[in-house]
Amino acid sequence: MYARINNRWTLLQKRIKASGYRNYADSTLKKKEWVSTNFSPGNVYHGFVCTDVELVKEYNMTAYFLTHEKTKTEYLHLERDDSNNVFSVGFRTTPLDSMGTPHILEHTVLCGSEKYPVRDPFFKMLNRSLATFMNALTGPDYTFYPFSSQNEVDYRNLQKVYLDAVFRPNLSRLDFLQEGWRLEHSKLEDKNSDLVFKGVVYNEMKGAFSETSSLFGQKFINTILPKGTYGYVSGGDPLCIPQLTHEHLKTFHSTYYHPSNARIYSYGNFPLEHNLQFLNETYLSKYKYLDPKHSVVSPQERWKVPSRASVSCRVDQYGGSVDKQNQIAIGYVMSDITQIYETFMMTALAELMILGPNSAFYKSLIEKNISGGYNSLTGYDNQIRDTLFVIGLRDVEKSNFDKIENIVKQTIDDIFTKGFEKDHIESVLHGFELSIKHQSPRFGLNLLFNLMPLWNHDGPILDALKINELLSELKKNLMNPRYVKDAIEKYFILNNHTLIMTMQPDPKFDDIFNEAEAKLLKSKVNALTAKEKESIYSDGIALSDAQKKVENLDVLPCLKMDEVALSKTAPALQHTIFGTIPLQLCEANTNGVTYFKGVLGTDSLNSTQRSLLPFFIYVVNKFDMKNYNYRDFDKFVSKSTSGLGFMAHIAEHVGQQEQYEQGVLISSHCLDENLRKMLDIWAEIFEKPNFENSERMTMLLNNYCSSLTSGIIDSGHTYAMQAARSLVSSVDECKESLMGMKHVIDMQGIQKKFNISDIQSTVNSISEQIIKGSNLRAAFHYSNATDVLKPVEDFCKNLCPGDAQEVNRITWTDSRPPNKTNRGLHISMNIPVNFCSKVIPTVAYTHADYPKLRVLSRFVTSKYLHPIVREKNGAYGGGAMISTDGAFNFYSYRDPNSRVTLDVFDETADWMAKNINLVDDQNLFEAKLSILQQMDQPVTEYMKGIDLFLYGLSYDMWKTQRERVLAVTKEDLVQVCGEYLASDRWAGKCVIGDGASQPLARASEQWETVSGPQQ
Ligand SMILES: [Zn+2]
Repeated sequence: MYARINNRWTLLQKRIKASGYRNYADSTLKKKEWVSTNFSPGNVYHGFVCTDVELVKEYNMTAYFLTHEKTKTEYLHLERDDSNNVFSVGFRTTPLDSMGTPHILEHTVLCGSEKYPVRDPFFKMLNRSLATFMNALTGPDYTFYPFSSQNEVDYRNLQKVYLDAVFRPNLSRLDFLQEGWRLEHSKLEDKNSDLVFKGVVYNEMKGAFSETSSLFGQKFINTILPKGTYGYVSGGDPLCIPQLTHEHLKTFHSTYYHPSNARIYSYGNFPLEHNLQFLNETYLSKYKYLDPKHSVVSPQERWKVPSRASVSCRVDQYGGSVDKQNQIAIGYVMSDITQIYETFMMTALAELMILGPNSAFYKSLIEKNISGGYNSLTGYDNQIRDTLFVIGLRDVEKSNFDKIENIVKQTIDDIFTKGFEKDHIESVLHGFELSIKHQSPRFGLNLLFNLMPLWNHDGPILDALKINELLSELKKNLMNPRYVKDAIEKYFILNNHTLIMTMQPDPKFDDIFNEAEAKLLKSKVNALTAKEKESIYSDGIALSDAQKKVENLDVLPCLKMDEVALSKTAPALQHTIFGTIPLQLCEANTNGVTYFKGVLGTDSLNSTQRSLLPFFIYVVNKFDMKNYNYRDFDKFVSKSTSGLGFMAHIAEHVGQQEQYEQGVLISSHCLDENLRKMLDIWAEIFEKPNFENSERMTMLLNNYCSSLTSGIIDSGHTYAMQAARSLVSSVDECKESLMGMKHVIDMQGIQKKFNISDIQSTVNSISEQIIKGSNLRAAFHYSNATDVLKPVEDFCKNLCPGDAQEVNRITWTDSRPPNKTNRGLHISMNIPVNFCSKVIPTVAYTHADYPKLRVLSRFVTSKYLHPIVREKNGAYGGGAMISTDGAFNFYSYRDPNSRVTLDVFDETADWMAKNINLVDDQNLFEAKLSILQQMDQPVTEYMKGIDLFLYGLSYDMWKTQRERVLAVTKEDLVQVCGEYLASDRWAGKCVIGDGASQPLARASEQWETVSGPQQ
């Protein structure tokens, strides 16, 4: 795991994505003595005066608000009996230019500080800690640094590193050049070679600007809120970044990363007093107050007349036909973020207006089938000072722009006249109630992410925690038609601060950028004095030397072996059979919510059916059912459950390579009292949906195909690894056709020449074949067996009558052995960066060498790949990991240089042979610790035992793996590296991106290029 790879600079980010963990953090209340710290208002603790203490009943916690007397630093502590403790320090960062200063600063403070003068201490702490989360995030107007851990020693260690990084960073000139931007000779040693722009953030933002939805989101905010900081690109516009100087960066740090502009947060059951004492003594007491008025964002003055704008973007090579690749967004500036009831109400209103087949915009816009569905801007964004409501569509023809505008106007008028249906309102309110009860995996972090934007603008954060009060007010108001009318009138009909923005693809988009970049480069180069030229040359050499230098990491704190304890215990699982359905039951502390998961086998599907399986998953609950039409069914579902989940499920056999289970994972949860209703809903699905509505099927197919290409660039390394794995394993060949680039390309083909009745009959045949009680195995998590078992038994017996007997519902698919040639796949894409991967098949999870390879993957990531691929070659990230099927994956992320990176992957074993001295006790322990960090992630109540259910991975197997990881020796690492990673081992490779300028294939490899339908 490399947390910062998920730290994509955010535009309209509504929810922070959890990284790809299979397990989730535990946030359950354990029955333990309440550890109240007894802080009371008016008292002073280590320089902090406590100003507020509030009990937040709905979350069983106490909130303490404190202010540092000298610097006025604000501090929020949420005391809750949860072992997954969180700490965060954040600043309001509101630049008035697009040089990307806050973003580059976020990177540069992580290049070493006074006490910890090492590059990338967060990355290095990943190997020295048991953190359950570590990250740094730059938003449009704030930057914050959160982490979480269950181990108090570890928590204190991380706190020290984090605080020193933000308050005492070195911000050296070379770090600025490395992370921000620089001119460098294309051949470092050759003074006569061309100069080029380099820099981690420079490259990152070139990547971000080639992602169409990021670009549209950025331009939209800049245009609808043009005054002040939102008029600029906080992450940095590649064409403006080269104006930033090292001096400006340092000044920005001293004014914005000042305690008087800081907000500090802690959550969990570790004592607050330690935090206050450490903060005060080590940092805050050394500062004077600095009025943070420079960072305040004023509310935008409202427009008198609406406005229009148009922008262009790159052609999506893997998208639908070019004349349909246009987007439109209509946005309204709503209330101020600090008006918490208004923003809460708008969240509900937006859901009523936009989400699901009963909402007004779905009926008037989506069901017209004139687009590929809502675009990524659509929704209510309350992350910035002036909140925004946006309704937008992707994949529309230009000729439909006017029509769409009129429909939007008409729809709002209709809502004003008719209001919302009562049961529709009830279902939305039910969703709010259920989400309060649901023990979300990272509770303390989620609270932080929700509060930070509000706190950033000095909003009433303690009131915002009292969600039940807000909800009861909302209930009362929404049921009053007059209230709804007034809200629609105020925020939409009489609102003139609206923007209609369209976006069209331009085949010259990249050329325009490249020309502008070349022009900028030329002007920079022409302006250089002889002395400056000389220093560019020497800086390049100095930076390269600094990157090669072996650092002394002993200054960083590190957990010790005896501070690492096995904390997980075997879950109490029960296995039984009701009817003939095998069940895994788990009684757990689920807070009044019952959870259902099931797997439907798909091994019987033929290849035509399999290629449409992901589409089937997308549509299965969107049609009429036996007893309900699709609109009523949706109401029924959302009134009593969390919604129905369907996803493709492929599980490799943990003991036998090249054997796998294929299926569809289905899931839902509900309040305990709604269990029978939830089971009735599933029974309805098992009666089979009716797919005869061809108009609806056509619309859903268009929306599905449109949704496929968004997100490819953000997760390019995942797609690249998936594609490379498919070249060496038939399990992954199957995965690739269900969720990889192959699926994207296949679906474009289907969309081009489909016959809707063929699609309907295939979808229907999948339904007939797999939605059967005799094809289901299920798991339930609940807190009260007496209320749950009877309904579950009735459900199973109705679905699958018969006598309980030993049934095995896992059908293993045997795969054919792949052809052992070294193959490569270049998925060409018109983006300026690449995602590279190489995959070597090794051994199964239960094989004795697997834990050795697992530790090796961490070792080569931190000692070899990260320093070379990221720090030296300028990629945003690079590393190695082993997947459960035994594939050893190398990857790089947003990489400017694919050819060199592939060589770096190939040379791993040679590098190891030359660097055996690096395999010392500390490095070995660190590599193990970072594996334990993954393995010891707390498991939330409703996920207990789920690895056994889904992957056949028992607690005992997990424990054996953990013991083996701890037992790995130095000799083991060297041995498995030589044996499995040698450059002549059979492997698959994949590059996504513009690798065209560099030949990728080596003599012994067969490469194939895919260029997408729009090339
Ligand atoms: Zn970044």
